[in-house]
Amino acid sequence: MKRRSFIHKVALAGTAPALLPKSSFAQQTTVTPIKNDPISICTWNFKEANATAGNALMKGDNALNAAILAAQVEEENPANSTVGYGGAPDRDGQVTLDACVMDHQGNCGAVLAVENIVHVAALARDVMTKTPHVMLSGKGAEQFAREQNYPNTPLLTSQAKAAWKQWKETEKYQPIINIENHDTIGVLCRDKEGNISGACSTSGLGYKMKGRVGDSPIIGAGLFIDNEVGGAVATGMGEEVVKTVGSFLIVELMRQGKSPQEACDEAIDRIVKKQQGIPNFQVAYIALNKAGNIGARCIHQGFSYMHYQNNQNKNIAVKAHSSL
Ligand code: ASP
Repeated sequence: MKRRSFIHKVALAGTAPALLPKSSFAQQTTVTPIKNDPISICTWNFKEANATAGNALMKGDNALNAAILAAQVEEENPANSTVGYGGAPDRDGQVTLDACVMDHQGNCGAVLAVENIVHVAALARDVMTKTPHVMLSGKGAEQFAREQNYPNTPLLTSQAKAAWKQWKETEKYQPIINIENHDTIGVLCRDKEGNISGACSTSGLGYKMKGRVGDSPIIGAGLFIDNEVGGAVATGMGEEVVKTVGSFLIVELMRQGKSPQEACDEAIDRIVKKQQGIPNFQVAYIALNKAGNIGARCIHQGFSYMHYQNNQNKNIAVKAHSSL
């Protein structure tokens, strides 16, 4: 079953009995790190993207470059309807992209609601390194991209346009947030120097209201890195991630001594507790600490992440929140 339709099905199940027993709550990947062996993890089953980052790290590339290279694979992938070229448009038919990056020195950059530029994670890095600012949005970000010689590329594919037209007919232009649209790429890399950096890139929720921006380009919400501790990145319903400043929360919990898994559990818990009953949306986090330990948690079953280490690139299924 396709990842997206599966999530949709789970969410629609709403009142379904518990998906998992309580005992499945604690799920942790603990590795014995070779000194600073490169690691790349990314949301969902973006195998090629994660392998690209892993190979770059093995060749000695730094963590930020590797994370951006991974994001670019999905930004160029027309089959991914939640990232870059081929992404689902907003409800007016325009594809607008959000992205951010953060490096091991705490530098960060972000672009919001950008049209006609494919490589928005790289553009976010250019905001970080070539401007005095952290975030550029809309027309300003596009102007900056043109100045940096990014090609102008219409992002709406014929397939995405056809799906949008069909949505318009059935949904009557209501500002519905479609819970099945979650394929944002979030990447966390640790390089040979032991430094951690990350990138996050998305077209956001399909058929969103014009101007809507989610968590993905918001430092602290969609992505946060603290190189003394580790990093975290989110996918799913951005509004809920923003409300809990999820990625920052996870990194801060790790600073206080929690493992990446415990920190992800708590961040998902905070969201779930605020809901009346079972949430009808998905949120998922992945986290990586300095020692190379990894954590991941999601609200609904159906989320997985990629883990590259020691020349192996594996897809890991993530267990859902224990109360579901
Ligand atoms: N987090 C993204 C957003 O809310 C959506 C996603 O993960 O697909 O914009």
